[in-house]
Amino acid sequence: MTQASPNGRRAPAPAALATLHGYPRQGPGRELKKAVEGYWSGGTDAGRLLETARELRAGVRAELRAAGVEEIPTGDFSLYDHVLDTAWMVGAVPARHRAAATGGLDTYFAMARGTAEAEPLEMTKWFDTNYHYLVPELSAGTVFTADSRKQVAEYTEARREGLRARPVLLGPVSFLLLAKPAPGTDPHFEPLTLLDRLLPVYASVLADLRAAGARWAQLDEPVLVQDQPRSVLSATARAYRFLGAAADRPKLLVASYFDALGEALRPLADSPVEGLAMDFTGPAAADVDALAAIGGLPGKRLVAGVVDGRNVWAADLEKALGTLATLLGLAGRVDVAPSCSLLHVPLDVTAERDLDPQIARWLSFARQKTEEVALLARALNQGRDAIAPRLAANRAALASRAGSALVRDDAVRERAAAVTAAQTRRPQEYRERAAAQRARFGLPPLPTTTIGSFPQTGRLRRARAELRSGRIDAAGYRSRIAQEVREVIAFQEKAGLDVLVHGEPERGDMVQYFAERLTGFLATRHGWVQSYGTRYVRPPILAGDVCRPAPMTLEWTGFAQSLTERPVKGVLTGPVTMLAWSFVRDDQPLADTARQVALALREEVADLEAAGTGIIQVDEPALRELLPLRRPAHRAYLDWATEAFRLATSGVRADTQIHTHMCYAEFGDVLAGIEELDADVISLEAARSRMAVAGELAAAGYPRAAGPGVYDIHAPRVPSVAQMTELIGQALRAVPAQRLWVNPDCGLKTRSPREVEPALERMVAAAHAVRATLPAGTGNPQARRTPPPSPRPLPRPPPPPRRRPLPRTERHP
Ligand code: GLN
Ligand code: ZN
Repeated sequence: MTQASPNGRRAPAPAALATLHGYPRQGPGRELKKAVEGYWSGGTDAGRLLETARELRAGVRAELRAAGVEEIPTGDFSLYDHVLDTAWMVGAVPARHRAAATGGLDTYFAMARGTAEAEPLEMTKWFDTNYHYLVPELSAGTVFTADSRKQVAEYTEARREGLRARPVLLGPVSFLLLAKPAPGTDPHFEPLTLLDRLLPVYASVLADLRAAGARWAQLDEPVLVQDQPRSVLSATARAYRFLGAAADRPKLLVASYFDALGEALRPLADSPVEGLAMDFTGPAAADVDALAAIGGLPGKRLVAGVVDGRNVWAADLEKALGTLATLLGLAGRVDVAPSCSLLHVPLDVTAERDLDPQIARWLSFARQKTEEVALLARALNQGRDAIAPRLAANRAALASRAGSALVRDDAVRERAAAVTAAQTRRPQEYRERAAAQRARFGLPPLPTTTIGSFPQTGRLRRARAELRSGRIDAAGYRSRIAQEVREVIAFQEKAGLDVLVHGEPERGDMVQYFAERLTGFLATRHGWVQSYGTRYVRPPILAGDVCRPAPMTLEWTGFAQSLTERPVKGVLTGPVTMLAWSFVRDDQPLADTARQVALALREEVADLEAAGTGIIQVDEPALRELLPLRRPAHRAYLDWATEAFRLATSGVRADTQIHTHMCYAEFGDVLAGIEELDADVISLEAARSRMAVAGELAAAGYPRAAGPGVYDIHAPRVPSVAQMTELIGQALRAVPAQRLWVNPDCGLKTRSPREVEPALERMVAAAHAVRATLPAGTGNPQARRTPPPSPRPLPRPPPPPRRRPLPRTERHP
């Protein structure tokens, strides 16, 4: 097969290349994490760290070359984060970090992690992935200077090996839009106003790359897949006119991913850049038509992202070939790539020796995706017969997945299909519920509580390590957990909290814990994915229909309640968060998957209620994260997401109080969704935004109870009683006393008991101080008149599993 030229004439078309946007950085044995952390702790010197990094890059190049990748990305490697690298490349190093370190690596890591004197850069999520980038700080006074050394060195390494390579850089428009005003400068400053100052710096880096031999360079502009105002589109056009006008430059490939380019396509197509790299998977598949509608990219190169770069499923090769066939007529030449950097998936399925081989062939991690890309390029160049056996194997794998009993559970599907609108609404209005709950719990005004987890103590970590190594058995481990729960309850009673928690010591991770107890989820042993810096996570893989073979939280919640007269809140992870922090199935709509998880949680909620737990919190910290990047898709998302939450929580009596929790600020986009959850109480992150969210909630007319956090658990300080009293006072201006709760911003698991204990004691003192100032009769007329719920016996033993759960490689309590 030869590629068709844009005007339909047959020309001797260039062969399609297999290429990538980026690759996992850490190495097969997580060597990078060890080297970087070794450097931080002083065990590894800078020379050794940089040598390890060079070896890892050489290893990736060898691997990609062997796999048939013909144009290799360079510059995507990072010791910490590629947005931080970009800030460094353009000289956007804050003065406090320059002052706090001696230059070079130490300044770089000071930006990432902070020092005793200097706060680090803020960290936030990279679009709708679970990768976190460091947020560049810019101000009207920022002076950019080019430092192309990293980019040039990494390109040169590849070139010396005789490889065709393409440096990958974060583009100037995305860099500016991802930045924020430097602290202490004008908070309304718009970094995009620095574009004209930044462009010459990019031009200089590109010139250096050209001088080093680069024929192409890639500039990633993922911000263009979000709805952008006209001003951003015209800034983009201006940026690429400017960069395109330079004499000494590589050809430019502008890349976008995670959603459709939509209206940003035209200005890029009209710009002098020589190529576009686009995502054609998931919602971005809409760009196939958009591209046709603008008449294609005549004379330009199109790098077609037809293999989903951020999920773990084997590609449908036939479907990808179909997309490529359509695209062939729409550009001067077409190359084949994953939709985005493979940074977001684990390295290698074949490392998962414990995974049933029949399931393993459904999966595709970075190495397998690379093979898929190479196969597709081969089919494009030599015809599909050249890969016929692989196409057949791919068809067979997809068919085996679709027909597998591990994926399909008809009982689950029937239940999900039978869900009625009534099941997704609590039978009583909030007012009636609130009255019943006041009568039942007799809480004082401004009741105090926490979000769920207590510090992961050294003792607890030791217990987990000893369980893993076999030094203690399951019973020994359980008795350690029981001891933690006893101490956490005793502390909360002593501190005077009103609604207690068991502290979540049995949960290493709030998603993994439930994934291990529900059918349909797979765990990996080596499926590490970078979350930020040297922190890697192993997200569960949601592969099949979900049900709950047995209760998941009754035992520890019930045990905690047996130790105290005060109410103990049950804490569960919500359906949206279960999806957001897993790899999700691609063979049914997210809404259907969420509904199945919600039904399983609904059973758990019912069992908790029956066992006497009167207050149940369903955490949804990820509600905002799954919000689609494009605004027109928001409504449909909020509809299914909030319905899943209500399905999980609406089957309870009026006097059972449903809580939810969210963190990471910026609630603006999901305020409507928060209202639609219909939770009786919501706890929110607020301390850092100085209660701004309380005001937003009030302005939106939020009618139910809320606990905007008064203790910032992300900072390693213990706030004073006065500070928290002040924050409660501010919250009271937005939320009336009858509906205000007092709690920290988030779970306490990352903090030490040394900080948490005094902080909570002071939080209770602050609540008491403010209570004393409330007019008589505020809050709950029944306060303290009804006795608190009596201790409950341990719940009945769990029923036997209804069916064998999917095999899991890992199972720790
Ligand atoms: N209940 C969880 C905890 O306290 C909530 C964590 C979260 O919001 N991310 O740890
Ligand atoms: Zn939280």
